Amino acid sequence: MDITRPTDLAGVLDALDHDPSATLLAGGTDLMVEVTYGWRRPESVVALRRVAELATWEGAFIGAGVTWARIEHGPVRGLAQAARTVGSPQIRNAGTIGGNLGTASPAGDGLPFLAAVDASVVLASKGGRRTLRWDQFITGPKQNALQPGELIVGVQLPEHLPHRQEFAKVGARNAMVISIASACLVRDPGGATRIALGSVGPIPIRARRAEEMISAERHPSAAAIEEFGRLVAGEVSPITDHRSTESYRRHAAGVLARRLLERCL
Ligand SMILES: Cc1cc2nc3c(=O)[nH]c(=O)nc-3n(C[C@H](O)[C@H](O)[C@H](O)COP(=O)(O)OP(=O)(O)OC[C@H]3O[C@@H](n4cnc5c(N)ncnc54)[C@H](O)[C@@H]3O)c2cc1C
Repeated sequence: MDITRPTDLAGVLDALDHDPSATLLAGGTDLMVEVTYGWRRPESVVALRRVAELATWEGAFIGAGVTWARIEHGPVRGLAQAARTVGSPQIRNAGTIGGNLGTASPAGDGLPFLAAVDASVVLASKGGRRTLRWDQFITGPKQNALQPGELIVGVQLPEHLPHRQEFAKVGARNAMVISIASACLVRDPGGATRIALGSVGPIPIRARRAEEMISAERHPSAAAIEEFGRLVAGEVSPITDHRSTESYRRHAAGVLARRLLERCL
């Protein structure tokens, strides 16, 4: 296996230009599991850990190489809450937001926040840069729009984030757990509300009918909160797999929606 270890972004772009099919390695917390089990056998790897540009976090731009350990202590509440639920301290010290996007798992805990705030993903190749909205980038379960020769440089958040942000997930135990369902809800003081849910569809699901209904309620009543949860449960499209059933995931989505809204209120 060829391993290239560039020390700057220009070096990564050169390496990818030379070998567009090279596999990118950030923290390795997803990739090395796949290698260990023999699901992936990369012939050449470009390691990103030494690239300082990827680890920068400036205002609303979070570099792909920023780890969950940094994000959990960062200023973006909804994303920090999600970061705190990722694996263990060891996993959070190594795992990155870019790797979460690269894997694009329906259970990726960073993704509901990015979907709720309509974040964009910044990509680069030797040919230049392009920016895709989250739902243009994540195209299916474990599928994304990354082209050969491209890497994720970082995530662009909106300059003004919603005032209230809450994330929670449901799993089989309290820690070190892959989500059975997850959700991030954001709300402005005027009432505008957005909710994105993970593990209940092929990509993060925005419950747009529920958002529209509750955004019109400046001071939602108990009945309105109940109705919001019911609408969210109706808008997700979960599957039954080894982790949970379709009906439990749907139920969990409704409960998460109600609880996160109550927290924001
Ligand atoms: C024990 C354990 C517990 C876990 N718990 C959770 C959890 O609770 N929640 C959760 O969401 N995840 C969890 N994960 C998965 C993993 O930690 C996260 O998805 C993490 O964000 C991956 O980041 P990484 O830097 O380690 O990615 P890597 O493993 O290095 O890479 C993952 C994929 O992204 C690609 N990639 C990496 N960086 C880039 C880039 N800059 N541009 C383009 N492609 C790139 C790689 O080629 C690879 O395909 C867990 C993993 C383990 C082993």
